[in-house]
Amino acid sequence: MSQELSVDVLVIGAGPTGLGAAKRLNQINGPSWLIIDSNEKPGGLASTDVTPEGFLYDVGGHVIFSHYKYFDDCLDEALPNESDWYTHQRISYVRYKGLWVPYPFQNNISILPKEDQVACIDALIDAALEARVANTKPQNFDEWNVRNVGTAITDIFMRPYNFKVWAVPPSKMQCSWLGERVAAPNLKALVNNVIMNKVAGNWGPNATFRFPARDGTGGIWTAVAGTIPDSKKRFGKLGSVTKVDAAGKKVTLADGTTIKYQKLVSTMAVDSLVEKMGDAEGVKLSKDLFYSSTNVIGVGVRGQRPERIGDKCWLYFPEDNSPFYRATIFSNYSPHNQPEENVTLPTQQLANGQKTDGAAKPGPYWSIMLEVSESSMKPVDQKTIVAESIQGLINTDLLKPEDEIVSVYHRRFDHGYPTPTLERDGALKDLLPHLYKQDILSRGRFGSWKYEVGNQDHSFMLGVEAVDHAVNGAVELTLNYPDFVNGRHNTERRLVDGAQAFRELELRQKS
Ligand SMILES: Cc1cc2nc3c(=O)[nH]c(=O)nc-3n(C[C@H](O)[C@H](O)[C@H](O)COP(=O)(O)OP(=O)(O)OC[C@H]3O[C@@H](n4cnc5c(N)ncnc54)[C@H](O)[C@@H]3O)c2cc1C
Repeated sequence: MSQELSVDVLVIGAGPTGLGAAKRLNQINGPSWLIIDSNEKPGGLASTDVTPEGFLYDVGGHVIFSHYKYFDDCLDEALPNESDWYTHQRISYVRYKGLWVPYPFQNNISILPKEDQVACIDALIDAALEARVANTKPQNFDEWNVRNVGTAITDIFMRPYNFKVWAVPPSKMQCSWLGERVAAPNLKALVNNVIMNKVAGNWGPNATFRFPARDGTGGIWTAVAGTIPDSKKRFGKLGSVTKVDAAGKKVTLADGTTIKYQKLVSTMAVDSLVEKMGDAEGVKLSKDLFYSSTNVIGVGVRGQRPERIGDKCWLYFPEDNSPFYRATIFSNYSPHNQPEENVTLPTQQLANGQKTDGAAKPGPYWSIMLEVSESSMKPVDQKTIVAESIQGLINTDLLKPEDEIVSVYHRRFDHGYPTPTLERDGALKDLLPHLYKQDILSRGRFGSWKYEVGNQDHSFMLGVEAVDHAVNGAVELTLNYPDFVNGRHNTERRLVDGAQAFRELELRQKS
């Protein structure tokens, strides 16, 4: 039955951003609030599907790397036991000319065939010399690549790989978002490695990572949502926003319920928000935002995990012998990501497409999860993409033609990657303040559309900081200063803050 509700702060969306906002509202225990989501399950793009055969798949490779103590606090509160997690060493390669080149590619050209090594070093020397005299900044991601890694690595890896990931040519993307995300090579170390025939060590922000033992990445967010009082949550049809009346500060839900608010923290995609507001100006501004879709394809295989797969985590594919840009050996993340060995499943097909007698047989099982990007600049045929992906697995030696496939999964996520195009910042500069003036804080991966702060930890903190801003006027560092938060470990905020800790200590001493 429809109702008329009223809260101080309404949070739309129970993905990481909305849950961050909700956790903070719960902690400060000040304004009245509610969190709503059109999905029955929390987690948004960070949730997990289970196939009828019992294989789990995230929305593509999700790895936690936290820049924030507050985020860690909330995850530790939700999944407190050591047995709730597995910790993994990142084992990651790039497939190139039939080789597995350790990630990052540009630091490991010592693995490449000699003629590629020569071309890469030649171009890197040119790039280093040019960098000495350059007096302008690169104008786009493609130029950034050429300047940082030279023309040869750009041609064989950066350009084709990034087009496969983003579904947008790098020349149409800006480069100010890059920060810690792309490893710029050290020419001296690289030449040294080539001569000594050595491989560069683990680079980057996620050299080790932890993964939930049960229920995939989505398990984290169901657990976080479980720490929020039920009375504050409306999920499913009861939480599906059909209309936002900004002037009347009122949201209408699919069941006819209306919720009045003072401040709205919206984490749905901002282009969809402005449509639901019927805001012509907002719609016009949002037209300059570009995104790509993500096709997630999962393949469950019978048999012992083969030697050639080993403990690889995720793998990158710049070449055109596979439609996917990334493959994750999802069964390596947790033994609970696939059915147990004694579960019997029929073989649906062999990897080469051949059908079998269809008799159910036991495992063991292992699985691969693939990501294929899609946009108006890189269309994907939904009818053939699964077969093309399985062929790509054979082409890249991840599957053998006679491997027994027992489960196939495919789901397309319309909003997958918020593209940092050349036009993006101009659009956001006007769009977010336009909404803010109407007491709407649009935040999150697609709420504020900044890929550089679009991971789970960032998204969660975008929600936390939006609440602190709405309630106390605090500066939103993650939204406004991505380089700053990405360049440090942000330890200032805690789930139990200083005053709370003292109060709790006092209570314990009294009792
Ligand atoms: C392919 C891929 C790979 C990724 N890899 C990583 C990774 O390795 N590490 C990492 O940390 N992050 C990764 N991410 C990012 C991570 O998924 C996001 O950070 C996170 O999900 C964004 O959270 P959000 O809350 O901003 O948005 P979302 O997760 O999109 O949540 C928005 C919520 O709003 C709800 N909503 C929408 N419309 C309505 C409506 N009308 N009414 C009510 N509710 C509505 C939706 O149901 C959804 O639950 C990846 C994402 C993708 C797509």
